[in-house]
Amino acid sequence: MKNVVVIGAGPAGIATAIQLKRHNIEPVLFEQNDVGGLLRNANLVENYPGFPEGITGSALAGLFKQQLRNTNVPVINEKVLELEFREETFLTKTERRTVQSPIVVIATGTVPKTTSHVIPENIKSRILCEVYPILGSRNKKIAIIGAGDAAFDYALSLSAENEVLILNRGVGTKCLPLLRERCEAIKNIACMENINVQEIKENGSGILLECTRNNSERARITADYVIFAVGRNPCLNFLGPMLQQDSERLQQEKKLYFVGDVKNGLFRQTAISVGDGVKAAMEIAKTMERDAQ
Ligand SMILES: Cc1cc2nc3c(=O)[nH]c(=O)nc-3n(C[C@H](O)[C@H](O)[C@H](O)COP(=O)(O)OP(=O)(O)OC[C@H]3O[C@@H](n4cnc5c(N)ncnc54)[C@H](O)[C@@H]3O)c2cc1C
Repeated sequence: MKNVVVIGAGPAGIATAIQLKRHNIEPVLFEQNDVGGLLRNANLVENYPGFPEGITGSALAGLFKQQLRNTNVPVINEKVLELEFREETFLTKTERRTVQSPIVVIATGTVPKTTSHVIPENIKSRILCEVYPILGSRNKKIAIIGAGDAAFDYALSLSAENEVLILNRGVGTKCLPLLRERCEAIKNIACMENINVQEIKENGSGILLECTRNNSERARITADYVIFAVGRNPCLNFLGPMLQQDSERLQQEKKLYFVGDVKNGLFRQTAISVGDGVKAAMEIAKTMERDAQ
């Protein structure tokens, strides 16, 4: 029972697993998708030290993945459906297995805020919250809903070969000025303010957005893809109710750790997630050393 379960293989979970290995602790690392997490969407990471010219999110995620492989950390490609704590033991459950461990690190990042729009079944696959799946698309019309960093970053990633329209329901942006300036300089990116998407419909082979502009005028926008970039919440839907109650105590007892975006509120950045992961792994090693004495 000296294993440590790590849930999520984004930057935080990867850093945790690599550091645990350095202390001769075997991480049991679960990931529901591809390794790399949300980082795979970033257009250009310019604030992660070591890459003076910046590096694309997908390239940096690829290097993280390579380092994980070189450290001989296997990834169990399964979604954690439930995490329970019973008789001083965590039970991490997927569809195929239940793993017992004395310690768990939660590195599950965030999930997109849900939208109240009703989306017709046959266009669901083209309504997205990340750009990673369509980074290779060309000659498409893409509408991005949102006005924060993610919306503008997504626009930059997609603008080289597509036409991008950013739909802002308010006036002015909430993104980094440098992202806005870069978008303004690209002719394939347009931005509409004061526009509210009321309905999302199927339109032949495309998507039709029924909108209101300036609170009253009607506007219709067609697109091949629609991307929601309207904020994210911590991803904690697998925590059983008992565990939610005991979470504070288990963290104080150094049995349960939260690392990365899942606990960082507005301060969601790769370097912070990586730092959280390394720190948690070092604390775990210290606790295990102490308990063994
Ligand atoms: C458009 C965009 C641009 C960005 N640009 C930058 C930038 O320039 N610089 C920067 O530092 N940061 C940037 N970021 C932020 C950065 O991507 C995140 O801070 C970082 O990815 C967070 O890492 P994390 O490991 O905490 O979470 P995540 O990357 O979200 O990883 C969480 C992982 O957990 C997995 N998971 C979740 N639930 C389960 C489950 N139940 N079972 C199994 N696996 C599960 C997910 O599939 C995911 O792989 C950007 C983000 C976006 C969206």
